Amino acid sequence: MARSGLLIVISGPSGAGKGTVCKALLEKKSDLLLSISKTTRKPRAGEKDGVNYFFVTDSEFMEAVREGDFLEYACVYGHKYGTPRSYVEEKLAEGYDVILEIDPQGALQVMKVYPNAVFIFLIPPSWAELCRRIEKRGTESKENMKKRLTAAVSELKQAHKYGYIVVNDSVEEASKRIISIIEAEKLRAFRNADFINAVIKEGG
Ligand code: 5GP
Repeated sequence: MARSGLLIVISGPSGAGKGTVCKALLEKKSDLLLSISKTTRKPRAGEKDGVNYFFVTDSEFMEAVREGDFLEYACVYGHKYGTPRSYVEEKLAEGYDVILEIDPQGALQVMKVYPNAVFIFLIPPSWAELCRRIEKRGTESKENMKKRLTAAVSELKQAHKYGYIVVNDSVEEASKRIISIIEAEKLRAFRNADFINAVIKEGG
Protein backbone atom coordinates (compact mmCIF):
# COMPACT_ATOMS: atom_id res chain seq x y z
CA MET A 1 0.00 0.00 0.00
CA ALA A 2 1.21 3.52 -0.79
CA ARG A 3 2.50 5.53 2.13
CA SER A 4 -0.17 7.97 3.28
CA GLY A 5 0.30 11.53 2.08
CA LEU A 6 0.76 14.61 4.23
CA LEU A 7 -2.20 16.82 5.11
CA ILE A 8 -1.15 20.47 4.93
CA VAL A 9 -3.40 23.18 6.32
CA ILE A 10 -2.75 26.76 5.20
CA SER A 11 -4.57 29.66 6.83
CA GLY A 12 -4.02 33.37 6.97
CA PRO A 13 -5.95 36.60 6.85
CA SER A 14 -7.39 38.08 3.68
CA GLY A 15 -4.53 39.66 1.78
CA ALA A 16 -1.98 37.10 2.99
CA GLY A 17 -1.88 35.75 -0.56
CA LYS A 18 -2.98 32.18 0.26
CA GLY A 19 -4.52 31.60 -3.17
CA THR A 20 -1.45 32.76 -5.10
CA VAL A 21 0.96 30.87 -2.86
CA CYS A 22 -1.12 27.67 -3.14
CA LYS A 23 -1.15 28.04 -6.93
CA ALA A 24 2.65 28.38 -6.94
CA LEU A 25 2.97 25.30 -4.71
CA LEU A 26 0.84 23.21 -7.08
CA GLU A 27 2.98 24.32 -10.02
CA LYS A 28 6.20 23.38 -8.20
CA LYS A 29 5.13 20.02 -6.76
CA SER A 30 3.22 17.49 -8.86
CA ASP A 31 2.39 15.20 -5.92
CA LEU A 32 0.54 18.05 -4.21
CA LEU A 33 -3.24 18.46 -4.51
CA LEU A 34 -5.54 21.25 -3.36
CA SER A 35 -8.86 20.32 -1.80
CA ILE A 36 -11.77 22.24 -3.34
CA SER A 37 -14.23 23.45 -0.71
CA LYS A 38 -17.96 23.83 -0.90
CA THR A 39 -19.26 27.33 -0.20
CA THR A 40 -22.55 29.19 -0.07
CA ARG A 41 -20.77 32.39 -1.20
CA LYS A 42 -21.57 33.60 -4.72
CA PRO A 43 -18.80 33.23 -7.32
CA ARG A 44 -16.62 36.31 -7.92
CA ALA A 45 -15.87 37.39 -11.47
CA GLY A 46 -13.69 34.75 -13.13
CA GLU A 47 -14.35 32.05 -10.53
CA LYS A 48 -15.55 28.70 -11.83
CA ASP A 49 -17.67 26.05 -10.14
CA GLY A 50 -15.59 22.96 -9.42
CA VAL A 51 -12.32 24.88 -9.92
CA ASN A 52 -12.22 27.57 -7.19
CA TYR A 53 -15.07 26.18 -5.13
CA PHE A 54 -18.16 24.04 -5.46
CA PHE A 55 -20.78 26.78 -5.21
CA VAL A 56 -23.85 25.42 -3.44
CA THR A 57 -27.08 26.69 -1.91
CA ASP A 58 -27.57 26.97 1.80
CA SER A 59 -29.85 23.91 1.86
CA GLU A 60 -27.35 21.84 -0.18
CA PHE A 61 -24.64 22.84 2.28
CA MET A 62 -26.76 21.93 5.32
CA GLU A 63 -27.65 18.58 3.72
CA ALA A 64 -23.91 17.82 3.38
CA VAL A 65 -23.45 18.79 7.05
CA ARG A 66 -26.23 16.38 8.08
CA GLU A 67 -24.70 13.61 5.97
CA GLY A 68 -21.35 14.10 7.72
CA ASP A 69 -19.70 14.92 4.38
CA PHE A 70 -17.39 17.61 5.77
CA LEU A 71 -14.02 17.09 7.38
CA GLU A 72 -14.55 20.56 8.84
CA TYR A 73 -16.81 23.51 8.11
CA ALA A 74 -17.23 27.05 9.32
CA CYS A 75 -19.02 30.31 8.71
CA VAL A 76 -16.59 32.94 7.42
CA TYR A 77 -17.61 36.55 6.63
CA GLY A 78 -21.26 35.49 6.70
CA HIS A 79 -20.92 32.55 4.29
CA LYS A 80 -20.51 28.84 4.91
CA TYR A 81 -17.41 26.97 3.77
CA GLY A 82 -16.58 23.26 4.19
CA THR A 83 -13.96 20.71 3.18
CA PRO A 84 -15.37 17.59 1.47
CA ARG A 85 -14.15 14.66 3.56
CA SER A 86 -14.11 11.87 0.95
CA TYR A 87 -11.75 13.59 -1.52
CA VAL A 88 -9.19 14.36 1.19
CA GLU A 89 -9.31 10.88 2.71
CA GLU A 90 -9.04 9.15 -0.68
CA LYS A 91 -6.12 11.24 -1.93
CA LEU A 92 -4.17 10.95 1.34
CA ALA A 93 -4.63 7.17 1.21
CA GLU A 94 -3.33 7.18 -2.38
CA GLY A 95 -0.16 8.88 -1.12
CA TYR A 96 -0.80 12.43 -2.36
CA ASP A 97 -0.07 15.41 -0.16
CA VAL A 98 -3.25 17.46 0.18
CA ILE A 99 -3.52 21.17 0.96
CA LEU A 100 -6.51 22.65 2.74
CA GLU A 101 -6.72 26.42 2.37
CA ILE A 102 -9.12 27.14 5.20
CA ASP A 103 -9.77 29.63 7.98
CA PRO A 104 -8.58 29.19 11.60
CA GLN A 105 -11.99 27.94 12.84
CA GLY A 106 -11.71 25.08 10.35
CA ALA A 107 -8.01 24.53 11.08
CA LEU A 108 -8.79 24.09 14.79
CA GLN A 109 -11.30 21.37 13.89
CA VAL A 110 -8.71 19.62 11.70
CA MET A 111 -6.15 19.78 14.56
CA LYS A 112 -8.47 17.51 16.56
CA VAL A 113 -8.97 14.93 13.79
CA TYR A 114 -5.50 15.07 12.20
CA PRO A 115 -3.10 16.19 14.95
CA ASN A 116 -0.16 15.10 12.76
CA ALA A 117 -1.14 17.35 9.88
CA VAL A 118 1.12 20.31 9.10
CA PHE A 119 -0.39 23.65 10.10
CA ILE A 120 0.98 26.73 8.37
CA PHE A 121 -0.11 30.32 9.00
CA LEU A 122 0.68 32.66 6.14
CA ILE A 123 1.01 36.37 6.90
CA PRO A 124 1.75 39.43 4.81
CA PRO A 125 4.96 41.27 5.76
CA SER A 126 3.06 44.08 7.53
CA TRP A 127 -0.40 45.39 8.38
CA ALA A 128 -0.03 48.17 5.81
CA GLU A 129 0.75 45.60 3.12
CA LEU A 130 -2.28 43.53 4.13
CA CYS A 131 -4.55 46.58 3.71
CA ARG A 132 -2.92 47.45 0.40
CA ARG A 133 -3.43 43.93 -0.98
CA ILE A 134 -7.11 43.78 -0.01
CA GLU A 135 -7.73 47.22 -1.53
CA LYS A 136 -5.83 46.36 -4.70
CA ARG A 137 -7.86 43.20 -5.21
CA GLY A 138 -10.88 45.47 -5.58
CA THR A 139 -13.37 42.60 -5.28
CA GLU A 140 -14.76 43.77 -1.96
CA SER A 141 -17.21 46.52 -1.08
CA LYS A 142 -16.08 49.07 1.54
CA GLU A 143 -18.24 47.29 4.11
CA ASN A 144 -16.78 43.85 3.26
CA MET A 145 -13.27 45.24 3.39
CA LYS A 146 -13.90 46.52 6.89
CA LYS A 147 -15.25 43.07 7.85
CA ARG A 148 -12.12 41.41 6.45
CA LEU A 149 -9.78 43.78 8.30
CA THR A 150 -11.57 43.17 11.62
CA ALA A 151 -11.52 39.42 10.94
CA ALA A 152 -7.79 39.64 10.11
CA VAL A 153 -7.02 40.85 13.63
CA SER A 154 -8.85 37.94 15.26
CA GLU A 155 -7.30 35.47 12.78
CA LEU A 156 -3.79 36.77 13.59
CA LYS A 157 -4.53 36.07 17.25
CA GLN A 158 -4.88 32.36 16.34
CA ALA A 159 -1.50 32.19 14.57
CA HIS A 160 0.39 30.85 17.61
CA LYS A 161 -1.68 27.65 17.46
CA TYR A 162 -0.11 26.72 14.12
CA GLY A 163 3.13 24.82 13.67
CA TYR A 164 4.71 27.34 11.29
CA ILE A 165 4.44 31.02 10.43
CA VAL A 166 5.42 31.90 6.88
CA VAL A 167 5.75 35.53 5.79
CA ASN A 168 4.57 36.09 2.24
CA ASP A 169 6.92 38.87 1.20
CA SER A 170 7.23 37.29 -2.23
CA VAL A 171 5.24 34.38 -3.66
CA GLU A 172 8.43 32.69 -4.86
CA GLU A 173 10.11 32.85 -1.44
CA ALA A 174 6.97 31.96 0.54
CA SER A 175 6.26 28.91 -1.64
CA LYS A 176 9.92 27.80 -1.35
CA ARG A 177 9.68 28.07 2.44
CA ILE A 178 6.52 25.96 2.46
CA ILE A 179 8.17 23.32 0.26
CA SER A 180 11.10 23.19 2.73
CA ILE A 181 8.59 22.68 5.56
CA ILE A 182 6.88 19.83 3.66
CA GLU A 183 10.22 18.16 2.92
CA ALA A 184 11.40 18.45 6.53
CA GLU A 185 8.05 17.21 7.86
CA LYS A 186 8.40 14.08 5.73
CA LEU A 187 11.68 13.31 7.51
CA ARG A 188 10.12 13.46 10.99
CA ALA A 189 11.02 10.25 12.85
CA PHE A 190 7.42 9.41 13.74
CA ARG A 191 6.44 9.48 10.07
CA ASN A 192 9.21 7.01 9.26
CA ALA A 193 8.65 4.42 11.98
CA ASP A 194 7.61 1.70 9.48
CA PHE A 195 10.77 2.21 7.45
CA ILE A 196 13.02 2.07 10.51
CA ASN A 197 11.25 -1.05 11.79
CA ALA A 198 11.69 -2.76 8.43
CA VAL A 199 15.44 -2.02 8.49
CA ILE A 200 15.70 -3.30 12.09
CA LYS A 201 13.81 -6.45 11.14
CA GLU A 202 16.17 -7.06 8.23
CA GLY A 203 19.21 -6.50 10.45
CA GLY A 204 18.00 -8.55 13.39
P1 5GP B 1 -12.86 33.65 0.06
O1 5GP B 1 -14.32 33.94 0.17
O2 5GP B 1 -12.02 34.88 0.07
O3 5GP B 1 -12.52 32.70 -1.06
O4 5GP B 1 -12.47 32.85 1.40
C1 5GP B 1 -12.79 33.39 2.65
C2 5GP B 1 -12.15 32.59 3.74
O5 5GP B 1 -12.71 31.28 3.80
C3 5GP B 1 -10.64 32.37 3.60
O6 5GP B 1 -10.03 32.62 4.85
C4 5GP B 1 -10.51 30.91 3.23
O7 5GP B 1 -9.30 30.36 3.70
C5 5GP B 1 -11.68 30.34 3.99
N1 5GP B 1 -12.12 29.04 3.46
C6 5GP B 1 -12.17 28.62 2.17
N2 5GP B 1 -12.60 27.36 2.10
C7 5GP B 1 -12.81 26.95 3.38
C8 5GP B 1 -13.26 25.72 3.97
O8 5GP B 1 -13.55 24.73 3.32
N3 5GP B 1 -13.34 25.70 5.33
C9 5GP B 1 -13.04 26.77 6.12
N4 5GP B 1 -13.14 26.62 7.42
N5 5GP B 1 -12.63 27.94 5.58
C10 5GP B 1 -12.51 28.03 4.25
